Amino acid sequence: MDVDIVCVGFGPATAAFLTTLSKQLVNADGTPAVESAALPGMPPQVLCYERADDIGFGVSGVVTRARALRATFPEIDQAGIPMAAPVREEKVLYLLDPIGASRRSMTLRLADSLIRAAKFALPVENLALNLPWTPSFLHKHDGMILSMGQFMQWVGAQVQSTGTVQIWPGTPVSQALIEEKKVVGVRLLDQGVDKAGNPSDGFTPGMDIHAALTVVGDGPVGAIGRQLDAQFGLPDGHHTRDWAAGMKFVVDLPENTALKPGTVLHTFGYPEPEIFGFLYVHPDRVASLGIFVPSWFDSPARTAYRYLQHWMLHPYLWRHLKGGKLRSWGAKTLGESGRRGEPHLTGDGYARIGEGSGTTNVLTGSGVDEAWASGTQLAEAVLELLKAKKPFTKQNLDEAYVKRRRSSWLDQESIVAEKSRDGFQRGVATGMIGMALAGLTKGKFSLGGEPVQPWKHIPSVEDYYAGRISREKIATLRDECKAKNSSLHGALMDQAGWPAIPFDGQLLVSHQDALLMGGKVQAPPGYADHVVFQQPELCRQCGARVCLEACSGQAITPGENGVPVFDREKCVHCGACLWNCSQADPKTSEHMNIAFRAGAGGLHSAEN
Ligand SMILES: Cc1cc2nc3c(=O)[nH]c(=O)nc-3n(C[C@H](O)[C@H](O)[C@H](O)COP(=O)(O)OP(=O)(O)OC[C@H]3O[C@@H](n4cnc5c(N)ncnc54)[C@H](O)[C@@H]3O)c2cc1C
Ligand code: SF4
Ligand code: SF4
Repeated sequence: MDVDIVCVGFGPATAAFLTTLSKQLVNADGTPAVESAALPGMPPQVLCYERADDIGFGVSGVVTRARALRATFPEIDQAGIPMAAPVREEKVLYLLDPIGASRRSMTLRLADSLIRAAKFALPVENLALNLPWTPSFLHKHDGMILSMGQFMQWVGAQVQSTGTVQIWPGTPVSQALIEEKKVVGVRLLDQGVDKAGNPSDGFTPGMDIHAALTVVGDGPVGAIGRQLDAQFGLPDGHHTRDWAAGMKFVVDLPENTALKPGTVLHTFGYPEPEIFGFLYVHPDRVASLGIFVPSWFDSPARTAYRYLQHWMLHPYLWRHLKGGKLRSWGAKTLGESGRRGEPHLTGDGYARIGEGSGTTNVLTGSGVDEAWASGTQLAEAVLELLKAKKPFTKQNLDEAYVKRRRSSWLDQESIVAEKSRDGFQRGVATGMIGMALAGLTKGKFSLGGEPVQPWKHIPSVEDYYAGRISREKIATLRDECKAKNSSLHGALMDQAGWPAIPFDGQLLVSHQDALLMGGKVQAPPGYADHVVFQQPELCRQCGARVCLEACSGQAITPGENGVPVFDREKCVHCGACLWNCSQADPKTSEHMNIAFRAGAGGLHSAEN
């Protein structure tokens, strides 16, 4: 099939691209404002393919300053967007460890003792220090709290009502079509295949869609973005070694909640010092809350789910959450390399937008608005080229799109943020100081610590727990977990002093229940496995098996002969296994032993 423009993924970046584009393809009298090359006499034919089974099945926070969103929708009425609320009150809290199981450095232990000793003179409440001052770059004054799912459905409805673009959910793109270094469109995923991708009942090969322009907005772990990175390489010195696994709950707060809509809480310090938390209050007693497990956290038992439950049980938060009920659950990783992870933004026949193009700003903790800005900038550029009847060559896209991006706040702020979190490579205290330094000096100074790949910094389980759990005990736990075909992190955390979670069937539920009740995870039959262990022999030698410990959906289990087993029906497509694999792919120095391909299914909730 031939079209003019094909888009991969319908996240905020592509939503912005299509919102701006769709309004200007047709004149008020219905005649084309610009003409299609694929279908002469008609407006340009624009298609967008989204992997998830519906629009709005993505995962995000979201609190946003909404600068780019407001530029697109100057008259935006938050009352018209379900779950939207204006930001009213922001707090940044340092959580002390109420359990004594957290792995804290000497510096933090000392800081904790001082805070506890001076708690009557400090704003300490329920074992949380409310930071009396936070730098302005962290604030979201005049911003909005949104549900990513609800917002994307709202935008999707508007875009489709223009009648000028089509969005196809449930349609993963398997690869970009590349001819002599030019992207000429995309190929959709084969259906009716077995786990390994071999034709089986009802085989339908993925259709080829030829387009003059392919817009790649497939997020931080999109297969098409990574295909282009592999094909064209990254600019010199760039890499994507910073990420975080985000996991969230959407909850009904108890009836007597004291939390008001518009409340924004950010936390650090607990359950492990490296783990950041967030709680945002929507209207009608609903809250989004969750944690980020960052790439620099060196624990091989890096399970977001169990940590999220301990975080919710912290006394400062639990007094607000006790009696609440789980509505929705989700997980997704964020690409946090920002400018340093920026790929080639354009090439002949393609352009990159959104988080996969390095938009996320780790200093301000903001991704949606930046992704949105990049999509808007590309749409303005594309309209300019269409009107001038110029082809989508790299040179033309650079002049129209990259130039816009370079002269915008998006690019300027990404320069400030570039090295702001490097200090975390040397510890949490250094990281926090480095962030403040970078923010307050507009990026002139930061504290160094080059991010490294996971296999260079994640130690073995035995080394990580040295002094806390003996090697003999770890060997016994391994055998017990192997016999149960389960991951190891729960047993390790129990042994390290983390108490059992008091499941209540409402809010504190098992991981499996969260998948079924909150995420409603499903996978349609007839698709190949999208998580593939490339070199099984590397898995056999792998001690840490971080893929299995970090899996957000319990979709990876130990398996026979040392090679993990992947269950597509539990996969939420978060990408944590891709980032966290603790063995390098021998073919490249940068990537891991897991292949994360385009795939169907995943979360079925539009609240996350
Ligand atoms: C838990 C969590 C909390 C966050 N909190 C905040 C916050 O408070 N504020 C904030 O500003 N940002 C926040 N972010 C970051 C923000 O969500 C992202 O920066 C933003 O969503 C990036 O938008 P995007 O359009 O580039 O990519 P995405 O939102 O990742 O969208 C990409 C889309 O492409 C689709 N796709 C991928 N591959 C294919 C394929 N092969 N074929 C078809 N479709 C495909 C995906 O399904 C997805 O819908 C948070 C992120 C997470 C995970
Ligand atoms: S996929 Fe990576 S982390 Fe998982 S067992 Fe194999 S090598 Fe180890
Ligand atoms: S297997 Fe699926 S759910 Fe598990 S970490 Fe990988 S992408 Fe996430």
